[in-house]
Amino acid sequence: QIGYVVDGRLSVAVEEVSFEVRRGEKIILLGPSGCGKSTLLKAVAGFIEPVGGHISVEGHELVKPGPDRAVVFQEFDQLFPWRTVSDNVAYALRVTGKEKAAAESTAARFIEMTGLSHAAGRYPHQLSGGMKQRVAIARALALEPLMLLMDEPFGSLDAQTRSRLQKELNEIAARTGVTILFVTHSIQEALLIGHRIVVLGHSPSKVEEIVDVSDIEDPDTEEFIEARRHLRELLADEGEDVDHAVFE
Ligand code: ADP
Ligand code: MG
Repeated sequence: QIGYVVDGRLSVAVEEVSFEVRRGEKIILLGPSGCGKSTLLKAVAGFIEPVGGHISVEGHELVKPGPDRAVVFQEFDQLFPWRTVSDNVAYALRVTGKEKAAAESTAARFIEMTGLSHAAGRYPHQLSGGMKQRVAIARALALEPLMLLMDEPFGSLDAQTRSRLQKELNEIAARTGVTILFVTHSIQEALLIGHRIVVLGHSPSKVEEIVDVSDIEDPDTEEFIEARRHLRELLADEGEDVDHAVFE
């Protein structure tokens, strides 16, 4: 159970949610807007503490944020505007104690992985939204976290860029084997990226179902269409308008 203190009283955002994330897995938190996805992700990141229950990583109960769980948000303004692309990535590594030269070479490696080598010397205001998200992903990956926590990272991008970054994220995940906890309210995105999808109901939310979609990727297959139908049904049961654009 996770909540916020509002006007001196506890307001419960997440009622009862329980799931396990396996190493190397891409797990999706899917649910309607306001159901508590960001709240859950922030709790895993260590920014807020559950009121009841617990969260643990490799058997250790979580107490505070750490570089073992790197976070990527939806907003484009998560970079330092006064640092270049390479300094944004290298700085995060310096903070965790890496030497300057090592930080710079690691930064360069991950900037290359996200296809940004040509823009390494640019400042955030000189980048498109998609490029800024790539930098945020490079910076998170460079920390070589146990887990990458992503809160609707492609939510503010145009459809074409979004679709390209979804593919790239899948490639990077396959290459690095990083474990990903990914929040979205898009069924399509959940199916394209996820191995398993934790479907949440309205706040105070509970797990409706955990759907295994690890063998589903190609949107043109029967399996994909069937899984999409099933997820739409689950979410429609929650009173969501299934024809609404966000459910694609
Ligand atoms: P989602 O990410 O699924 O859209 P959130 O986790 O942001 O949902 O929010 C879940 C619920 O918690 C909502 O009812 C929201 O209003 C409430 N909430 C979120 N952040 C705060 C906060 N800082 N203080 C009080 N209530 C909050
Ligand atoms: Mg959110």
